[in-house]
Amino acid sequence: MSEKQKLELYIHIPFCASKCRYCDFLSGESTPEAQRAYINQLIEEIRAQGQILPEYQLSSIFIGGGTPSILSGLQIQNIISAVYENFVVEADAEISIECNPGTLDATKLEYYREAGINRLSLGLQSADDEELKLLGRIHSYNDFLHSYELARAAHFDNINIDLMSGIPHQTLHKWRQSLKKVLRLHPEHISAYSLIIEPGTPFAALYGSEEGQKALPGEDEEREMYAETKTLLEEYGFTRYEISNYARPGKECRHNIGYWTGVDYLGVGLGASSKLKHHRFHSEERLDRYMAVEMHRDLMPLYQDLVALTVADEMEEFMYLGLRMTKGVSGADFYDLFHLNMFDLFGDAIRKNTALGLLEVDTPMLRLTERGIDLSNRVFADFYEVLPRNQALFPDDPRNLF
Ligand code: SF4
Repeated sequence: MSEKQKLELYIHIPFCASKCRYCDFLSGESTPEAQRAYINQLIEEIRAQGQILPEYQLSSIFIGGGTPSILSGLQIQNIISAVYENFVVEADAEISIECNPGTLDATKLEYYREAGINRLSLGLQSADDEELKLLGRIHSYNDFLHSYELARAAHFDNINIDLMSGIPHQTLHKWRQSLKKVLRLHPEHISAYSLIIEPGTPFAALYGSEEGQKALPGEDEEREMYAETKTLLEEYGFTRYEISNYARPGKECRHNIGYWTGVDYLGVGLGASSKLKHHRFHSEERLDRYMAVEMHRDLMPLYQDLVALTVADEMEEFMYLGLRMTKGVSGADFYDLFHLNMFDLFGDAIRKNTALGLLEVDTPMLRLTERGIDLSNRVFADFYEVLPRNQALFPDDPRNLF
């Protein structure tokens, strides 16, 4: 029997109790009826996808949103059962769910455990109630504490906490307080992202203008927050393994590592993104159209912006996604995948950024320096669309449309 290929599954739940003021994710308020109908359609999609992808087995499942924990425990269990019925799932697969403080209770957590969920990601963002209010979050810090205690009582031993720096009026002191409060709880994983003002959000109207931006921490302050995060988290036994992600040993998020290391992933549900068989696409983003797709007949109407990736696209992606990981990218792995020398192919970008002190070579690894992590977007730009887009240059690579 031929060995199955590794696949990661992302399941999108596009519902939230109310919209946070900075958020541009595909999510919104809805009725229980709409949620029920969506879950039925999602399960139809999972069935149909499982049938057309028999050559894969799932190494991780990530239920994200939105706020998946807004659904009942039984609804989540039904979704996961549908996955198990239609895909081969590795015995030690990482199965995560994103939860919002204030939407969890002991019964839901029991269902999660029964369903095989072994990792929780709690969207806290800040341990300061004023900041939470400003962000438009539905919960207080105490609500979060309650959810966290419930999760521990339900024996979840792999918990991530999301935190956000760069919040309007946030000072280094306040950020440090948030970090310390969270660290005292001893979670296994912390994601520390900085706020991005997204166009079209209430925050863009408030803080997008030159005047509005004055309320945001300046560039230097943000850099100090980043440095402080690393120092404090390392003191508490965490290792930074990606630009914004820290974990205790062995608790790195395997699902996200898959994204950064080029594992194929399938996104199911509204607007979910996929990278599969050298193609990239996302699912229909309009709920009425998503609901109208006859999943059992033809999945093609679901796929939007289907792009065939060239070998050059994949090589560049290997570099700028892989470099997000602090261990860097391996020239040996690159050679195994593409049969070419990474250091020759990207010689200009590597020479330029090592001369600037942003990259360092430790053969066969290439990685960002501390300074390079601060200026990572500048480095990544040097690996983006720099190779010739001529398939004939890479004759060994069979690109089969599906
Ligand atoms: S809970 Fe998350 S997905 Fe929902 S509105 Fe807030 S930030 Fe967006």
